[in-house]
Amino acid sequence: MYDPLVHSHPGTGEAHSASYWVDTAGQAPADDGPVTGPLDVDVAVIGAGYTGLSCALHLARDHGAQVLVLEANTTAWGCSGRNGSFARISGGRVPLAELIGRYGKDTARAYFGEMQAGLATVKRLIAEGGIECDVQPDGVYKVATKAAHTESLKREAGLYNEVLGYPAYFVGAEQLQGAHAGAESFGALRMPDGFAMHPLKLAWGVQRMARAAGARVHVASPVTGWSSDAKGHLLVTPGGVVRARKVVVATNGYTSPDLHPQLAGRVLPVHSQIIVTAPLSAEQVRNSLPSTDCMFDTRNLLFYYRRLPDNRLLFGGRSAVTGREAENPVHRQFLLDSLRRKFPVLGQVPVDYGWGGWVAVSQNSLPYIYQVPGLDQVFSAGGYAGSGVSFSLHAGQRLADMVMGTGLPSAASFLHQVPQRFPFQPFLRLGQRLAYSWYRFQDAR
Ligand SMILES: Cc1cc2nc3c(=O)[nH]c(=O)nc-3n(C[C@H](O)[C@H](O)[C@H](O)COP(=O)(O)OP(=O)(O)OC[C@H]3O[C@@H](n4cnc5c(N)ncnc54)[C@H](O)[C@@H]3O)c2cc1C
Repeated sequence: MYDPLVHSHPGTGEAHSASYWVDTAGQAPADDGPVTGPLDVDVAVIGAGYTGLSCALHLARDHGAQVLVLEANTTAWGCSGRNGSFARISGGRVPLAELIGRYGKDTARAYFGEMQAGLATVKRLIAEGGIECDVQPDGVYKVATKAAHTESLKREAGLYNEVLGYPAYFVGAEQLQGAHAGAESFGALRMPDGFAMHPLKLAWGVQRMARAAGARVHVASPVTGWSSDAKGHLLVTPGGVVRARKVVVATNGYTSPDLHPQLAGRVLPVHSQIIVTAPLSAEQVRNSLPSTDCMFDTRNLLFYYRRLPDNRLLFGGRSAVTGREAENPVHRQFLLDSLRRKFPVLGQVPVDYGWGGWVAVSQNSLPYIYQVPGLDQVFSAGGYAGSGVSFSLHAGQRLADMVMGTGLPSAASFLHQVPQRFPFQPFLRLGQRLAYSWYRFQDAR
């Protein structure tokens, strides 16, 4: 398995790894094949996930730019084709109270506005492109796994109402049973906005839109070398060298430090894994997840889950640290045991699918959309910390504006700061293991 901290690039033309999404996505759209021979372009985008595809679409359609995307494997081969499918008002992983404490109420409001714009961007793209991606009705629950967590959820609802003017509300344990049954249902914070969909169909829809607008999407074209001269950048791919005056780096959690020294060490790739059960019976649905809303829980190492349109249950969380470890079946078993603890009625339900991917965590656990220092006309966005479906599509649009020198910067100014490099790089994964042990201890208490 590709591990960004071990391998120099994600491969060349690798197929999607097996998943429920791949099995149910239908026919992949046309692309422009691998690069064959030298190319010259205004803007080259590296990475064909939501960030890169959205950036290419907005550059080509809204700015008339000549743009091509270089993808190592196939479109949405990274997170965008394998995620948990929640499009929420989200981006990064900093609790609201901490965000307000760190940056103050005005910046928190500005950032919340960006995240709301993210959700609006996904909805707009789905409507504009007529993207058929199995959209579920809006609704998100953050579920208390212990009675002791309900007070903090009530306080969080209060912050949403009073500081952000947003109508989040607390749902008591009894009322929650109609949406979320099972052993760990002590109440929830409900966000009225946010929906689930089919992530690969969404990515392919944005790819179709980008190509229709004139962008080219070259697959099986990893960037394996990068040099710069007075005329711009030279990106080496196996099929030919691409000369570009401007470059957008949209490789996010799949970024190898070998891509460019200026980008190295700015995100920590963190592995997240998903299992999907066999379809549930009507009785199992009633006693586990009667609602099809997006769910996640109050653990430090949280689980996210939803019921799929064919009554399977998708369940995800973090367990493995390295790519090699992720292949060990104990991590899939860990998810299954956790699912059964949450929903004892699902004790015997078989698991039909399991897969994982690399989410990108920045040092401040918040996203970035910035111009890379030390490189002329190079831009990047990422660091969504596992909450990037909506924010990445929005960041792609913001990147397009930044590349063209239009659009105003966000009032949440931290978004545009250069992401700090993680210190003690050789010990990152040791630190991650220690953090996981501590979180698990706290979650189990
Ligand atoms: C298991 C899992 C569950 C998730 N669940 C959710 C969720 O429910 N809701 C949510 O909001 N977010 C979720 N996320 C996160 C979300 O999917 C991501 O934030 C989002 O898809 C990031 O998109 P991206 O385009 O920035 O990166 P990616 O989709 O990861 O795309 C990066 C691309 O860059 C390519 N690349 C890397 N190096 C090179 C190179 N040298 N040359 C060419 N190409 C290269 C890769 O092949 C890859 O296709 C989840 C992520 C995972 C892994």
